[in-house]
Amino acid sequence: MNEMLTQVLEAVEAWERRFRPFTRHPSTRVDAAALANALKRYTDRLEGNYPFFHPDYAGQMLKPPHPVAQMAYAAAQRINPNNHALDGGPPTSEMEVEVVGRIAAAVGLPEDGLGHLTSSGTLANLEALFIAREEHPDKGVLASEMAHYTHSRMAHVLRMPFETVPADTNGRMDVQALRERLAKGGIGTVVVTTGTTGMGAVDPLHEILPVCREFGVRVHVDAAYGGFFAILAQAHHPDLPLPSRNAFLALGEADSVALDPHKHGLQPYGCGMVYFANSKVGKHYLHDSPYTYYSSKHLHLGEISLECSRAGAAAGALWLTMEVLSPEADRGLGPILAACLRAARKWNEALATSERLVELTPQPDLDIVLYAPAATSFEELDALSGWLFDASMLHPDPIFLALYKMKRDWIALRLNHLEGQLETPRILRSVLMKPEHEHEVSSIVARLNQLLLSKQEL
Ligand SMILES: *Cc1c(COP(=O)(O)O)cnc(C)c1O
Repeated sequence: MNEMLTQVLEAVEAWERRFRPFTRHPSTRVDAAALANALKRYTDRLEGNYPFFHPDYAGQMLKPPHPVAQMAYAAAQRINPNNHALDGGPPTSEMEVEVVGRIAAAVGLPEDGLGHLTSSGTLANLEALFIAREEHPDKGVLASEMAHYTHSRMAHVLRMPFETVPADTNGRMDVQALRERLAKGGIGTVVVTTGTTGMGAVDPLHEILPVCREFGVRVHVDAAYGGFFAILAQAHHPDLPLPSRNAFLALGEADSVALDPHKHGLQPYGCGMVYFANSKVGKHYLHDSPYTYYSSKHLHLGEISLECSRAGAAAGALWLTMEVLSPEADRGLGPILAACLRAARKWNEALATSERLVELTPQPDLDIVLYAPAATSFEELDALSGWLFDASMLHPDPIFLALYKMKRDWIALRLNHLEGQLETPRILRSVLMKPEHEHEVSSIVARLNQLLLSKQEL
């Protein structure tokens, strides 16, 4: 990695040397001793991070980008192209169009749609809801109660009424409840989450779509977390559970999709993507160009995006990553994603043999698991979850988990013997988004179980 990093940076330097030499302004010079001192303080402070790279970090949705992405990002960042406008960075703008098309095809989206990269999933969802509002002014947005909080927040920003529909035991949108709500009218757009942030639940898109069509309602799919798993669905990959597979196979029928390459696409932060099935929605972005412009293959990215400046390096990094680790089921991204899915199943297998921990997602749709220490009341469940979260992190060989506040009623569907009144007890959550987890989770769960046993003995 370091060798190649030097190599790509040297390639950029060689390109720079092709231009007339000039003297750098003295004002940009820094004092070497001051820099060394600040750098030391900087790297010391960075040590305050949790080890996101390590399989023993089994907490939130975090991991470093793939070395290939780091390298590509570093090279382009030195040039610092801006993908807002074509002349802000012609090569990375071209790469953006290419890689968006490639990912769209790999996840089953229509090839004549309109898409671009964004700084984040939040921005991708905001753009999709903005278009939804322009298409259905005065109508509301409906999402599952498990949807990301960004939707209610962005609906607020856009001044669109927002409502939720209940989720079922698996955390998926309840289709019957959806139908009943749509029948009452007033809804213009349904947000379907294929991979909820909390528990990785995949809403049954294939069942939701026909209901929405019946009521003439738009469908936006928030695939920020789960989108890349559609690559496995396209190949009917056996490691992707059937309900998830069926949902992802319907992705191509959605009106818009948000997808985060900075989650399962191995990218550094600053890389989201939005894609519209109908390129004509480009007319809603404010611009000076004639409408016909949007049927052109030569998109001016800045004019079909709500954001202005955007890192060309993000597009470059994604492009190079997809060249080397292609979005395919049997090589590149596929085997990484499949290993994460197997890790979630192995986590549950390990829980089944653990005396002190109970599973709360017996059949995870993706690679996120919920679980909790065995308890007799919601209060004890909450306290033990908090204890294990701290104790595992403070151990000499630390394990990093995440806490998740879950509605008592939902937990009661799984654990019906619990007593107590606590409304939203804390449970534990692990996002197993590193392929190394596949071979590490049994030992992690065994160590967690051991910790709980040792507490009991105290
Ligand atoms: C992460 C996530 C978002 C928000 O995306 P950011 O890239 O963090 O802004 C939205 N929806 C879902 C389902 C997510 O997982």
